[in-house]
Order: sequence, then structure tokens, then C-alpha cells
Amino acid sequence: MYTFTKVKLAVVGIGRQCFAVRRTLNGARAVSRGFACSANEKESSTSENELYDIIISGGGMVGTAMACSLGLDPNLAGKKILLLEAGHKKVMDSVPETYSTRVSSISPGSATLLSGLGAWDHIVKMRCKPYNKMQVWDACSDALITFDKENLQDEMAYIIENDVIVASLTKQLQTLSDHVDVRYRTKVVKYTWPRPYHMAESIPWVQVTLASGKTLHTKLLIGADGPNSMVRREAGIPTVKWNYDQSAVVAVLHLSEPTENNVAWQRFLPTGPIAMLPLSDTASSLVWSTSHQHAEELLQLDEESFVDAINSAFWSNENHSQLVETAGSLFRTAMSVLMPDRGSARQLPPSVSGIGPKSRVMFPLGMGHATEYIRHRVVLIGDAAHRVHPLAGQGANLGFGDVACLTNVLSQAAFNGKDIGAMQHLLEYETERQRHNLPMMAAIDLMKKLYSTNAAPVVLLRTFGLQATNILPPLKEQIMAFASK
Ligand SMILES: Cc1cc2nc3c(=O)[nH]c(=O)nc-3n(C[C@H](O)[C@H](O)[C@H](O)COP(=O)(O)OP(=O)(O)OC[C@H]3O[C@@H](n4cnc5c(N)ncnc54)[C@H](O)[C@@H]3O)c2cc1C
Repeated sequence: MYTFTKVKLAVVGIGRQCFAVRRTLNGARAVSRGFACSANEKESSTSENELYDIIISGGGMVGTAMACSLGLDPNLAGKKILLLEAGHKKVMDSVPETYSTRVSSISPGSATLLSGLGAWDHIVKMRCKPYNKMQVWDACSDALITFDKENLQDEMAYIIENDVIVASLTKQLQTLSDHVDVRYRTKVVKYTWPRPYHMAESIPWVQVTLASGKTLHTKLLIGADGPNSMVRREAGIPTVKWNYDQSAVVAVLHLSEPTENNVAWQRFLPTGPIAMLPLSDTASSLVWSTSHQHAEELLQLDEESFVDAINSAFWSNENHSQLVETAGSLFRTAMSVLMPDRGSARQLPPSVSGIGPKSRVMFPLGMGHATEYIRHRVVLIGDAAHRVHPLAGQGANLGFGDVACLTNVLSQAAFNGKDIGAMQHLLEYETERQRHNLPMMAAIDLMKKLYSTNAAPVVLLRTFGLQATNILPPLKEQIMAFASK
């Protein structure tokens, strides 16, 4: 028995070593990532017309940005690129009177990307609201943190309707029609992965089957098909995911009176965070994450009660406890002795007087992370690779970061005359993006958990943490710099 176990362990050990060696040899890792491939991949009988260098599946904010980015890259000029989107084309010939319900807080890093793609000018011409301050505070104590850009030229971030972002990118994509084909109302129903040349019915490329029955082939498939990604699922890419016990209620809010409205407000209630994001002098956007049942109830309320519920969620102190308040105030006094003139006083957000017509919608929230972003000839970007809670306003920003990184990697591969779908350079993309995305995702998930309780010890802990962070400018600057990318 002893001998057997020892032998077995040795075999496992050797196996592990082999695995480690395999992982260190670029490209060879393809073997451990399924879709076994061959160095001698041969061109099949695939007709040239059906073969694309790159197909992007999914034309949301991230997939459309990817298509623009690839279409603009000079090193990819000769490549055949196709964007497939199940929905209809989103264009805006004029700015709609009413604000749309779905908005995103767009970081300066994403704004730079959109500017490089030529979409930013369209966004600014349509609608976009910069803000230069953010106040985040706890409903269970007086703890708060403010992020300020008042002394800097740069804006902290921009609130932009998702439709405006997609429409601006679409407008830009139209100017790239020589390089990028786009098909709307085109749903992919099946993917068939490359099979090595020695197998019967070998196919060297990814085969994409459309709902119309037509099949296309591509040397590289980019999955930008959102949180329920079919690319990810069919490729068998393992995913860590769970549903949160919360849904987000979103709505367009009318303010009681015009204000400068350049602050993003977020308050952590025991049931979840509520955020008010500026849209104009008289309008803001609501993102209220709360229990599924409460979210349902909020949707059913008449407008007046809904507005009262929002104002009370921002203004009421009903969740304060005497113990936490006393301890928090002692801590604040001690800190102010150690570091005078630091920190800032709590302000209250503008009051709400009404909501936009038919603007109340709810979304169940979840977190998901594909443990691998790449396979041979396949790569995931945006929500297909990672889905986060909206409390930090980072989901789309992470996706735009993927776009910038993947464009660089593919551009370099094309410049060097390399096979665009090979693992060697896709691995660079995966490593760089996971290094950025994972810490951000972990921090967001921790925040969600830390603020989902009103248990006194946890409230005390986060109260001290928030207050201490608020008076440490270098730490705040680091947080801002990380979130700005
Ligand atoms: C309430 C809420 C608030 C948010 N706030 C922010 C914020 O402030 N800042 C921020 O950065 N992020 C925010 N996010 C996250 C952000 O909305 C997402 O990260 C972003 O929309 C993901 O974009 P995507 O293009 O990757 O995926 P999606 O928007 O899901 O797009 C996927 C596209 O793929 C298409 N598709 C799917 N399957 C197929 C198929 N089989 N064939 C063809 N096409 C297909 C779909 O039609 C869709 O257009 C928020 C999210 C929520 C829920």
C-alpha cells in the first residue's frame, strides 16, 4: 500500500512537473486548453469569401469598440474583420429628448480609448455629463469618503447613456466599412472549434453558424457576447460565478431644482448601495441595488411613493446606531488630532421630484469570471470574460481596457507576420488583463459583502476603514488612479 501510494504520488508529481513545463512553453499551452491543434494546420477547402481573419461575436459597447479599434489599426489594415450582432443597428441622427435608462460612468482611461477611436467627439456632441467629485457614505454611521478632482483639470469620470456610446461607435464604424463588415440582426447559434489535420473532417478555423443556416470561418473569434456568453459556454471555459441576492433598479430622476450637479453620490444602505449619477443640471440617473423583493416592490410603487423612497434612502438616518455613532465620532476626533484639516464634511445630494416616463427597470446582479480568457483561436472580452456588481461603475471600463490591450497584442502579432489566432500572443492579453481585472473584481466583491450587513462589529470596522482612508490623500489618489484606467 505504502509503495503503491509512493509510486502514485511520484507519477502525479511528474505529471505536475510536465504540466508546469507545458505552461511555461508558450503555445504548447494550447494543448492544455482543449481544441487540440497542430502546427501543420492546413488550409481547408473553406472558400476565401467565407473566411475572416477576425470575427467579433456581439456588438454591445465592448464588441463595437473592439471592431472600431481593429478597423483603425494600420497593422491590421489588410485583415478581413466582421462584427456580428443579434440586435438591430443603434444609430442616433438627433439627440433624443428623454434620457435613456441605462447609463455608465466612464473613466478617463475609457474616454481616452473612445477618443482614439474617434467616437468621443460624437459622444460630446450628443450627450455626456462630466463630474469631478464623488461622495460615498454609510447609512449605518457617519463615515464617508470623498473623491475630489476640483484642483485638477481632468474630470473624475463621465456619465454617458449606453445607447449614446454604442451609437457613437456605430457612426465611427460606418467610416471603416472598407475594413470592417458589420451584420446586425444576425444571431450566432453554433460554434465549431478547430480540429487537427489528422482527424477526419479536420477544420483549421473556428466555424460560426448563423441562425440563417449560413456558416462562416475565422482565424480568430472574439467573444464579446455579454455575461451569458455562448462563446464562453460552448468553448467549455470554466467560469467562477454566482448571483448576488440583489437586483438593481434603474431610473431617470428629475431634480427638485437646477443645480451644478457635478457630484456622483452613493450611499451604502444595509440592503445595498443606492447611487445618483449626474446627467444634467436638472436630471440624474438612479442605480439602486437592493434585495430582489424590495426591487420588485419599488417597481410597483406609484411615482410619488417611489420618489419619497429615493429621498428617504439618501437622507434618512434610521439605520444609525448609538454605539457605532459614538465610536465613529471618537475615532474621527482622534484622527483629526493626528491629521488636522484633512477629510471633508458630509453633503446631501439634491432632492428628487419625479422620474422619467417609463424609465424604471430592474436587473438581477451577479459576479462572474472566466478563469481563462483564451483558447486556441478564441478570446473573450468584456462581460463575456468578467461581470461585476455595478457599485463601482467598472464593468464597461474593464471591457474597454480589454479592447485596448487586445488591439495592441493583435497589432503586434500582425506586424510580426504571426498567425493572429495563435496562443503565444493571446497569452500576453490574458496575463495582462487578468492582472488588472482580478484585483478590481475582488475589491468590488469585498465591498459588496462588507456593506451588506448592519452587524455592529462589521459596521465599526468599515466605519474606521472609510474614515481613515478619507484622511489619507495618497491612499485616495491610488484608489482613484486604479479606478481611472
Ligand atoms: C445597473 C447597471 C449599472 C451599470 N453601471 C455601469 C457603470 O456605471 N460603468 C461601467 O463601466 N459599467 C457599468 N455597468 C456594466 C456594463 O453595463 C457592462 O459591463 C457592459 O454593458 C458590458 O458590455 P458588453 O458589450 O461586454 O456586453 P453586453 O452589453 O451584454 O453586449 C453583448 C452583445 O452581444 C450580443 N449577443 C449576445 N449573444 C449573441 C449571439 N449569439 N449572436 C450575436 N450577438 C449576440 C447582444 O445582443 C449584445 O448586444 C452596469 C451594469 C448594470 C447592470
